[in-house]
Amino acid sequence: MQVFKFGGASVKDAAGVKNVCEIIRAHSRPENVIVISAMGKVTNALEQITDAILGNAANIDLLISQLKEQHFQIAQELFPSAKPVLDAIESLIAEIYWVAEEAQLKNYDYEYDQIVSIGELLSTRIVAAYLNASGIPCEWIDARDLIRTDDSFREGQVDWRITEAQIQTAYNKIRTQKPGFLILTQGFIASTSDNNSITLGREGSDYSASIIAYCLNASEVVIWKDVPGVLNADPRIFPQAELLHEISYYDAIEMTYYGATVIHPKTIKPLQNKNIPLRVKSFLNPLEAGTLIGNTELRNEKPTFIRKPEQVLVSISPRDFSFIIEENISEIFREIAKRRIKVNLMQNSALNFSLCLNNEKGKIDAFRESLNDRYRVRYNEACELLTIRNYTDELTGSHTSGKNILLEQKSRNTIQLVLQN
Ligand code: ADP
Ligand code: ASP
Ligand code: MG
Repeated sequence: MQVFKFGGASVKDAAGVKNVCEIIRAHSRPENVIVISAMGKVTNALEQITDAILGNAANIDLLISQLKEQHFQIAQELFPSAKPVLDAIESLIAEIYWVAEEAQLKNYDYEYDQIVSIGELLSTRIVAAYLNASGIPCEWIDARDLIRTDDSFREGQVDWRITEAQIQTAYNKIRTQKPGFLILTQGFIASTSDNNSITLGREGSDYSASIIAYCLNASEVVIWKDVPGVLNADPRIFPQAELLHEISYYDAIEMTYYGATVIHPKTIKPLQNKNIPLRVKSFLNPLEAGTLIGNTELRNEKPTFIRKPEQVLVSISPRDFSFIIEENISEIFREIAKRRIKVNLMQNSALNFSLCLNNEKGKIDAFRESLNDRYRVRYNEACELLTIRNYTDELTGSHTSGKNILLEQKSRNTIQLVLQN
């Protein structure tokens, strides 16, 4: 069996849903699992709604009714008689109001997950109904009954033992009770042992597909994107970017970790562990081969550019002039781990430790605060991290000219630069 994953861009409107349905008809097998994200920018809209609810803003009703209208319109365009789907949308929207009524201001991340998870429930209700109406039998499954995590809200950590058992049981049950039915489920969402909804981190639907593939020993995962595959740079930033036909798990992890947003960085490991190939293909040109990520000795030798915006460079020096040694480093890392801050680059000298971090404002402020007594902490915001794999000095020069280089790190193949415009 295969796992197919369709992201927000592929189901952003009624035409998108029809296209996804045609791809499934032409390319999928009946025993497959299909994973779908929220439509278009719905997750962003739900984040706004969460902020409005927790900030008691005046526009809560307006934002929620816009979200409902967006889904109503898509459903009405897809179905001549949309009543059952409209009812399903209506009751999911009602859930947002319930959460709003009960919302306690003390745990932002928890409330966020209860609201934001509705996006995937909405999209999959619509797509499942459309597949069934189009003669492709499919069974809608709640991903919260499949993937179990701890309660690190907004970045649930998977409990693999329970998840594997739940996924295998659900899959085998459908296979025996409804042979010939596709299984359709949500990306990005899961549940905790208390049955609360939780999310796996923004853009986490790719990871959901990979979790399911791991648990079912899938033969392949296909992720359908709005690009021809994995390119040697983001084509939105470098229009001349070229397709990489085949890359290794290793290269894929390195690229996604440093900010190639085409695949969520956590996607690769479960697949690598079971040697399951990942194909990244275009939902606009489904007949093209796309990129194959797998267990190949092949090393990508094309220069590859990865830009990670919204970085902060933090420089930490002990106030008492002690060296940056094991003791200091472990203290600093305890504070980092506690807050789940993402470290993208680090460098140390005798008295200084520099870290390039994702600029998640609240976390970074708390981190700096926690060190203030013993360390002098300076920081530069509005930075970007540029990673060039297979660099040459000439290429590096042409991509950094006019920019202030705050930090540079080189290995034989890769150069990384923290830049400020
Ligand atoms: P999804 O619809 O699954 O959410 P995303 O929008 O998250 O898809 O990911 C696809 C986007 O990733 C592309 O539109 C492209 O701009 C971006 N991207 C970034 N780096 C790369 C890369 N190296 N190769 C291809 N696409 C890339
Ligand atoms: N809908 C979620 C997001 O936009 C998950 C995903 O699309 O992968 O972050
Ligand atoms: Mg996305």
